Amino acid sequence: MSGALTQVGATARRTVGERAGSPVSGARRAALITALVLGVALVVVIAVRTPWTVLPEPPGGYTPLDPTAGLSAAEVDRAESFAALLRPTSLVSLALSLAVAAVLGLTRLGSRIVRAVAAPFGGGWVWQVLLGVLALAVIGRLVTLPLAAYAEVVRHRYGLSTRGWGLWLRDVAVSTGINAGLTAFGLLVLVWLARRATRTWWAWAALGAAALVVVGSFLWPVVIEPAFNRFDSMPAGELRSDLLELAERNGTPVQDVLVSDASRRTTALNAYVSGFGSTRRIVVYDTVLDRLPDDQIESIVAHELGHVAAADVLTGTLMGALGAAAGVAALGWLLTFGPLRRRAGAGSPGDPRIVPLVLLLMAIGTLASTPLQNLVSRHIEARADVHALDLTSDPDAFVAMQRGLATTNLSDPDPPAAWQWFFGSHPTTAERVALAQDWERLDRP
Ligand SMILES: [Zn+2]
Repeated sequence: MSGALTQVGATARRTVGERAGSPVSGARRAALITALVLGVALVVVIAVRTPWTVLPEPPGGYTPLDPTAGLSAAEVDRAESFAALLRPTSLVSLALSLAVAAVLGLTRLGSRIVRAVAAPFGGGWVWQVLLGVLALAVIGRLVTLPLAAYAEVVRHRYGLSTRGWGLWLRDVAVSTGINAGLTAFGLLVLVWLARRATRTWWAWAALGAAALVVVGSFLWPVVIEPAFNRFDSMPAGELRSDLLELAERNGTPVQDVLVSDASRRTTALNAYVSGFGSTRRIVVYDTVLDRLPDDQIESIVAHELGHVAAADVLTGTLMGALGAAAGVAALGWLLTFGPLRRRAGAGSPGDPRIVPLVLLLMAIGTLASTPLQNLVSRHIEARADVHALDLTSDPDAFVAMQRGLATTNLSDPDPPAAWQWFFGSHPTTAERVALAQDWERLDRP
């Protein structure tokens, strides 16, 4: 079909589409209503499931925040000067990747790249989607690579990174490859659906996105994590028995606590829980075992057991699935607008040249939802902190552990409020120390 005929077809559909009662306006309304209903459902789930208050107010009121969190002036200075170098770098990198995504998604440049990379393979739509996503992901990565390298230089200078440049490059390549591969798969399914079910594709795609979030979260520990780290069972000994006993007391017995070889990359201290059901695991960085005394390691693991007890990974996964479905329905609504598609040079959602526009809308959606995700996360983390205090009854070890983490990880104990509101996934160290003091004053059993 010639370009002119496609254009006439698109124009005719648009004219019809804007008349009430036509198939396009019906599909547009259905997608919008679905997006709104799923969005409201997400807000309700968040409102009901987020632990907004984790501790009652102690007699005499909550402990006022000490912005130093008890760190020395030198320690606070060091963390602040580190942040003063990295925060602008992150913001510039974010702005740059959005600007590049906007240029690619809102001009014909992106669709030209999509067609060009697929041309040597015959130019079919499958190649356009797969290689197009790959090419755009590589472009996005290369644009911000100098900033990422600079951030790594800063982390080296402050002794936080132990990673050589070979491993850094390998990490960048592997994470870009995994991201691009997953995105390419998702968009391939999306375009395929849009070609098969021109009016209801977004509904199937929304279901698929929700399923992908659930399956992805389940498989993450066994498929993605091993691409970066090795995991060994914590060596037998008193600490290991104590931790397994702690899990038993928590009512969530675990077979094992895993230790990751994080020290290949960093001196940072951390632990986390990932997966759910049969893939659930508690992982402690080897740096924690090397650097912290046993009572503080128990405090860290007790926090992770708090996540296990409250099934936080599953809750987060279900919220993510609902959010993804709402986002895809909103995408379905936005892509009914001909002028928007034509900016990107795509005739319909089933046209592979839609890829750069979809990537831009995904980037905007992800960024816009970040403060909400972090708001929920901070409350879930605070609940796990209270759980750790309840389980260990050792606020001194908890506070010492929080200070140790802040000092070693160079976390600003009291970052600017706007930064914390947007990017803070955990309460600040100042807040976590104050929480432990509230817990002590409440004299919980
Ligand atoms: Zn946590």
